[in-house]
Amino acid sequence: MKSIDLLVTEASQVLTLAGPARQRCGPEMSELSAIPNGTVAVDKGLVVETGSAAEMAGKYRARKTLEANGRLVLPGFVDPHTHLVFAGTREYEMAARLAGDSYLDILAGGGGIHGTVEKTRKASFDELLESAKGRMQRMLEHGTTAVEIKSGYGLEPETEFRILDVANRLRHDGPCDVAVTFLGGHVVPKDTGREAYVSWLSGEALDGCKGRAEFVDVFCDQGAFTLEESVQILKEAKARGFGLKIHAGQFRDLGAAGAAASLGAISADHLEHVSADQLAVMKKNGTIAVLLPGASFFLGSREYPDAKAMEKAGVAIALSTDFNPGSCPSYSMQMMIALACHQMGMSAAAAVTASTVNAAYAMGRGGLLGTLEPGKQADLIVLDVETPEQIPYFYGVNLVRKVVKKGRVVVDI
Ligand SMILES: [Zn+2]
Repeated sequence: MKSIDLLVTEASQVLTLAGPARQRCGPEMSELSAIPNGTVAVDKGLVVETGSAAEMAGKYRARKTLEANGRLVLPGFVDPHTHLVFAGTREYEMAARLAGDSYLDILAGGGGIHGTVEKTRKASFDELLESAKGRMQRMLEHGTTAVEIKSGYGLEPETEFRILDVANRLRHDGPCDVAVTFLGGHVVPKDTGREAYVSWLSGEALDGCKGRAEFVDVFCDQGAFTLEESVQILKEAKARGFGLKIHAGQFRDLGAAGAAASLGAISADHLEHVSADQLAVMKKNGTIAVLLPGASFFLGSREYPDAKAMEKAGVAIALSTDFNPGSCPSYSMQMMIALACHQMGMSAAAAVTASTVNAAYAMGRGGLLGTLEPGKQADLIVLDVETPEQIPYFYGVNLVRKVVKKGRVVVDI
């Protein structure tokens, strides 16, 4: 009998998501590689083996046993698109929106993102760190074990880099795995000329991001950056070795998803509006569609991304909260799964794939996270349901009972 750290037993099913070592597309997204009455063996923070209770009986002597008691076990959720570091909240904008103003009206009037920028510039490193840490803890309690974090509420060197430094502190100190993205190209700040700002973004800013960010992202849309400006910034970022991401087609399709995919972007995010031609370019280049249904929901929009068309086109889909103070202040990947199923017509299985293995690939962590396969990091959750279909069925509540991070139980409810 082999001695190990942890044995997770008595799961209704263990969804291992075992499969090819890449993002899953089309029908593959519905294959969860479930083990009924499953057990997971964990040692030194890694998955050692998964199997049915019968297969695993008598093989391991564990220092700790976690009984799932007939509940569902799956990889921790990965949230690959968040704006986690900022100061202040924007609930005051809801009243204006409910009275008929659109998100873009509010932004054009100097509110929206600009309101958060004003408060974030005044916040110290410690203030930003404390608030972001609290948010990450809420995410962990909702089953998220890895998070991508973007800057974008500074829009000038000092604050942009302060946000990246906060994100990197979280990357070192946990509790979640973190990938850091520079989104200085969020909107043009009120106090700088457009040309000067784009020139900073495509040169000096990128040099300052070395060692601070892994990815560079641009918000290419009406009211933000043009296609030409976005391509200029992404090309310079690529030349400096950064991974690329893009906010594309949230309000208008400017052709950003296809352009970013042609440059080798790891993901194109939002895609409420995107043409079939661009989906074909994404498929060809392996660019993952990161869909953010919480933003459509919170903004009261009827325009959700067409996940069915993407699945049909063979584009791999990931889901994310887009956690931010203006268009989606939700910590819950479970809620995103519910929205993906009930508003976008995704199957529960496809939505689970999109929230685990595909989301891990969308933040460059597919080799380490997102499945329960031998050698992968032992990040797993126990949900108070018996089947994947019950996750979006019991929507709007937190189903998490246990969270295991790197083999340690960190949430126990
Ligand atoms: Zn975003």
